[in-house]
Amino acid sequence: MSKKIATIGPNCVACGVCATACPIGAIRIDRGLRAVVDAGRCVGCARCERACPAGIIAITERQEVHA
Ligand code: SF4
Ligand code: SF4
Repeated sequence: MSKKIATIGPNCVACGVCATACPIGAIRIDRGLRAVVDAGRCVGCARCERACPAGIIAITERQEVHA
């Protein structure tokens, strides 16, 4: 199984636009430095990708790990 999730690239300026755009609140700004995606909650809708003014968010496939 794999699912799509948002991946934050380098050079995030922690503007918070993506966190505001995410409909389920799956992005937080870590220590005011960069955006962090909660991979367990992200549904891969790509709203953050379209919203990021720096264009550094990618929607990628991630293998789900089942312990
Ligand atoms: S892809 Fe959608 S659900 Fe995932 S972090 Fe971005 S806006 Fe939120
Ligand atoms: S919108 Fe882009 S630059 Fe701004 S906090 Fe999110 S990932 Fe970083």
